[in-house]
Amino acid sequence: MTHPRYPHLLEPITLGDGPDALTLRNRVVMGSMHTGLEDHPWDIDKLAAFFEERARGGVGLIITGGYAPTKRGWLKPFASEMTNRLHAKRHERVTGAVHDAGGAIALQVLHAGRYGYHPLSQSASDKKSPITPFKPSAMSTKDVDHTATAFAKSVALARKAGYDAVEIMGSEGYLINQFLAARTNDRDDQWGGSATRRMHFPVEVVRRSRELVGDDFPIVYRISLLDLVEGGQTWEETTELALHLQAAGVTVFNTGIGWHEARVPTIITQVPRGAWRSYTARLKQVVDVPVCASNRINTPELAEEILANGEADLVSMARPLLADAAFVAKAMDERADEINTCIACNQACLDHVFANQRASCLVNPRACHETELVLMPTLRKQTVAVVGAGPAGLAAAVSAAERGFDVTLFEKSPELGGQFRLAMAVPGKEDFADTLRYFTRRLEVLGVDVRRSTEATADDLAGFDQVIVSTGVEPRMPDIPGIDHASVASYADVLSGAVVPGQRVAVIGAGGIGVDVSVFLTHTEEDLDEWMAHWGVGDPALTAGGLTEAKPRTPAREVTLVQRKTTPIGIGLGKTSGWAHRAVLKQSKVTQVSGATYDRIDDDGLHITVDGAPRVIEVDTVVVCAGQDSVRGLYDALDRDAHLIGGADVAAELDAKRAIKQGTEVVAAL
Ligand code: NAP
Ligand code: SF4
Repeated sequence: MTHPRYPHLLEPITLGDGPDALTLRNRVVMGSMHTGLEDHPWDIDKLAAFFEERARGGVGLIITGGYAPTKRGWLKPFASEMTNRLHAKRHERVTGAVHDAGGAIALQVLHAGRYGYHPLSQSASDKKSPITPFKPSAMSTKDVDHTATAFAKSVALARKAGYDAVEIMGSEGYLINQFLAARTNDRDDQWGGSATRRMHFPVEVVRRSRELVGDDFPIVYRISLLDLVEGGQTWEETTELALHLQAAGVTVFNTGIGWHEARVPTIITQVPRGAWRSYTARLKQVVDVPVCASNRINTPELAEEILANGEADLVSMARPLLADAAFVAKAMDERADEINTCIACNQACLDHVFANQRASCLVNPRACHETELVLMPTLRKQTVAVVGAGPAGLAAAVSAAERGFDVTLFEKSPELGGQFRLAMAVPGKEDFADTLRYFTRRLEVLGVDVRRSTEATADDLAGFDQVIVSTGVEPRMPDIPGIDHASVASYADVLSGAVVPGQRVAVIGAGGIGVDVSVFLTHTEEDLDEWMAHWGVGDPALTAGGLTEAKPRTPAREVTLVQRKTTPIGIGLGKTSGWAHRAVLKQSKVTQVSGATYDRIDDDGLHITVDGAPRVIEVDTVVVCAGQDSVRGLYDALDRDAHLIGGADVAAELDAKRAIKQGTEVVAAL
């Protein structure tokens, strides 16, 4: 039956034909996402539980993280690989769990090439990537031949393990791209030379895979639509490649945007939703097999719109399925307002993986911890009071209600969200509003007694069985002479709109919030075309890799961002997003000053000393972003046991990731 709200998204699709054809129950693909669980054989049960929960949540096709076809293709030392029967046998645990839950799953085969974080890495040439310290060795002609066959063997092993399909990773700058692009392939054997000869390697990978697995087993190929690096492929080359691959046996094209070394953000919050959909639509005009859209699609509405417009046949969402395992089930039940939306922050997923930690999710700390962080239904019906509705308190209240406790949430302001409400005012962080929509709706559905504009007292809390205090933080106002001057405002005043700064602004403190506030102060509205122009994204039909000269930004204000540390500004920001925030500061002509001592603030502006030389930054407004102090008055006044969480517990380097995790964990342990 056609779904009334998402008729295209929830419509089945059959991939391939013949006995191995795969019918998916809907068009939602959970895109490949390396979690770290793939790399350790002893984590196979955790991996199975992670996928099983998503299969139960209704997703059409799951694609695993990348598995190397050879040791030299590892992402890091001893990383995941699919190279022998033992591996295939072990994976039956994963495929069985997904099948029992009614789902379908594909194994991704990925050779890291020069992105391999180890000394054995190999590539089309010995050119080092700018994002890894290891110089690869150039593959011999025989090595390339051997590697193409190894890919095919991994594909065959995946089938043996019970996988319903495979995905060959041909995007994001990994080995296959390194063969395709002139940037990294300067070979003069049969695997290089002209653009067509550079295509020989991926085409052979698909051809040999097809030979080993027969006509019908679905082979997904993730094709790079836009390399976003100099010396990347042109659109003409991409379409020629797609046609060769289709002829060699590809069943479906998944799509990818940008190599990892590209200096254009492709998936983080500041990238407009659906930014890359038009490129998928362009590919769909070229090939006959189904095409899957990806990157910055995080709601069922947007996915439905892309399919309804005929821009793609499937939609891939990786991080949104990390954020909410029941994404599809909720869409199906017309409960999309209860979806815990991925806010594209990368803080607990990609940033973890790049730091060699297990992935999780900022808005869903259970992700990849399904067997460890369990919210069991309570056997003892207790009353729980949660005081403060910032991220920690919201997570605690919702988790407690999900466990079956009788929950009351006190919030002294009329709005829920605390510091998170301020964050969503930052340009490019508008998606954060979805997290508050999710929590607010869940509180409603679960019947939590939410008391807004209510400052809880010790007396109010006396009758509750459990009390959780999450009273949050307040902006720290440092002890600088003149801090009471009329020109001084806190970041909270500015982001909430209570204070509108003048044209010339000094920002004190260059942590995450100082950087965000500088972006807020300099930002001017931009549509998708302008966003692309500011990042130098052009038409790949005109320039290789789709890069062009970036259009300069016209900042709304003149901003100077100051810190006491002598390190470069913004180096402590997230690994996979910090570089983009730093780039925006530069594009917005924000003056950056490190190693400053604050002398005073007066009518002339902010007086500082740098390298022993005093100077004044002449400004109309000084915005203080100097961290936070815990708000603990209530907790200290309580004459009973209570759980202290979030910023009220530890203010230093508090972020929503820690707050939501702590709020969930404290309730799991009740
Ligand atoms: P923060 O990261 O601790 O930065 C505050 C900065 O203020 C410090 O780096 C410090 O730098 C300066 N400072 C501290 N005490 C000071 C004092 N007494 N006088 C003058 N300067 C002082 O805190 P935040 O920027 O408020 O951010 C809060 C949390 O939210 C952090 O955990 C942050 O990671 C998170 N957040 C993350 C993002 C993101 O994009 N991932 C964005 C926003 C916030 P100096 O000592 O060098 O001056
Ligand atoms: Fe999305 Fe952030 Fe969760 Fe990653 S950590 S899945 S980007 S919400």
